[in-house]
Amino acid sequence: MDLNKRDQKHLWHPLTQHKMTKDHLAIAKAEGVYLFDEDGNKYIDAISSWYTCVYGHCHPYVVKKVTEQVSKLDQVVFAGFTHEPAVELSEKLMEILPSNQQKIFFSDNGSTTVDIAMKMSLQYHFNQGKKKLRMIAFENAFHGDTFGAMSVSGLDVYNGPFEEVVLTIDRIDVPNQNNLEQVTAAFTEIVSSGEVACFVFEPLVQGANCMQMHEAKYLDMLIEIAQKHDVICVADEVMTGFGKTGNIFASEELMNMPDIMCLSKALTAGMVPMGLTTCTQKIYDAFYADEVAKGFFHGHTYSANPITCAAAIASIELIQSDEIQQGIKMIHANHVKFSEFIKDHARVENIRVKGVILAIDLAVSIDRYGKDRNAIFNYFMDKGIYLRPLGNTLYIVPPYITKEEELKFIYDEIHQYINTL
Ligand SMILES: *Cc1c(COP(=O)(O)O)cnc(C)c1O
Repeated sequence: MDLNKRDQKHLWHPLTQHKMTKDHLAIAKAEGVYLFDEDGNKYIDAISSWYTCVYGHCHPYVVKKVTEQVSKLDQVVFAGFTHEPAVELSEKLMEILPSNQQKIFFSDNGSTTVDIAMKMSLQYHFNQGKKKLRMIAFENAFHGDTFGAMSVSGLDVYNGPFEEVVLTIDRIDVPNQNNLEQVTAAFTEIVSSGEVACFVFEPLVQGANCMQMHEAKYLDMLIEIAQKHDVICVADEVMTGFGKTGNIFASEELMNMPDIMCLSKALTAGMVPMGLTTCTQKIYDAFYADEVAKGFFHGHTYSANPITCAAAIASIELIQSDEIQQGIKMIHANHVKFSEFIKDHARVENIRVKGVILAIDLAVSIDRYGKDRNAIFNYFMDKGIYLRPLGNTLYIVPPYITKEEELKFIYDEIHQYINTL
């Protein structure tokens, strides 16, 4: 029986309406920037497999570090034990995180890092005897699919059936030059209530919201207002972290550092899943007490799994390397050049570049999960390029090892496609 027949028997894929999507292409292997299907066709992974495999697939250094760890210590309970890979990872993280981030809490994916940040914020205030239960998030945010993360997310295509059971969240628009006054006024009014526990945001780029971008200086104003009112600021860097915006973290462009940061996706170089919620000493200290109940009673079975720690250590070493840093700069420079070239095309409505992220809004209307969107996806797969359009937005986030000629190939095919519209 072919693989798709077997797949259809028992498998339920994420984000999929199975009645409308019968076949899934079987990928047999991956190497560097390429995915290979069962027939040996190759596809350039132009979105780094959802922003994870940023050093390319099966990077030999990550493979080596993970392989060494696998046969040494596979798993041990992290409540009560510690181990070298976790300690080494915490030390390596201190080299790259903003200096106010001092403590590391482990989980398994991006959504849980946000749930943990929300619980940490609520308990931070609770432990000090303060009743602060409201939370603020941006319109059209995406923070994940677990209940907490889904609650702070604001894209209805994901949340419709759960709208009446999710947590109530105060929503504000992402600030820009035109709405700055209204947004800061509305924000100030909410935080002035003294009831707000935290403000959760994706810094600089809202990934799932078609890669919409905002300026650091406007976000900075909101963080400043929030921190004045003892509101915990949570930067969800699950997508932006590890080089996407040019710096290792998007928060590096801010003057006011977030109190909590959420990391996942490229954290482990796309090899194994891990999530991290990091926080300041001040937050940690609010849990440090002679009372057991003031501790943070949240834990995942695979917390700080040694194999995932080994992958994360390798990922940090790679992001610090000259080769990867040059790759990021080269990709950014080429994105800028291509966007200059294509921006006046009649079929291009808007084009945005930030770091290695290039997003093009096409001047056509396309449903987020509709037939037309699938047609674009298939068009590029036929050309040997894997990308996932979000409605009428085409975007790419290529691995940092992508060569200049491979980028050119992607740009040429995008240009050709836009000419067909
Ligand atoms: C992907 C993503 C998440 C969710 O991460 P999962 O690992 O899919 O649970 C949360 N926040 C942002 C900004 C993301 O891009």
